[in-house]
Amino acid sequence: MSVQHEHPLEHSADKSPRVLVHICCGPCAVYPLQLLMEKGFQVMGLFYNPNIQPLQEYLLRREGVGLAAGKIGVEIIYMDQKYDPVEFLRRVVFREAQRCFLCQQMRLERTRSVALRGGFGYFTTTLLFSKKQPREQIRMLGQSLETGKCAFLDMDFRAGWEQGAEMSRSMGIYRQSYCGCIYSEFERFQGKL
Ligand code: SF4
Repeated sequence: MSVQHEHPLEHSADKSPRVLVHICCGPCAVYPLQLLMEKGFQVMGLFYNPNIQPLQEYLLRREGVGLAAGKIGVEIIYMDQKYDPVEFLRRVVFREAQRCFLCQQMRLERTRSVALRGGFGYFTTTLLFSKKQPREQIRMLGQSLETGKCAFLDMDFRAGWEQGAEMSRSMGIYRQSYCGCIYSEFERFQGKL
């Protein structure tokens, strides 16, 4: 179970660096969150993924993130309490060839904006854990969003791919079978129907 207090963005008296971590799903969260805590960061998670479709899948992944964060002891900010995939679809329709870039950009922009508002010195994303995501593109996107007050934390979480997968399995966290959007859900069946 995840923990939320009333003012999740308030500053802490602890002087260790604070990082806001965009979290895409539970299995991708376990290793990065743990690693960042071990490295001495004050870690907070952000669940903002209007790209996930349909609703049942979104709820499963959100629940999985809560489970993972609760086991590790990280608080989560849930930006999209009310499920609304329209914002995502408006961004990508007629631009399907760039849809992954637009999808990553949308989520990183929001993360950076919340991080700035909350006075975090760093922001990053668990998308850097997945071997299926374009690491270089995400790194460049993150760095393009940096400000003097809030830097993109570029960490190659992929080194913990096996370990993270094993940890999430042992925690019983839901594991998805497609990236998230309706396009990726459709593509997994392409050529098989
Ligand atoms: S395939 Fe994944 S990264 Fe690409 S648009 Fe869909 S949800 Fe986003």
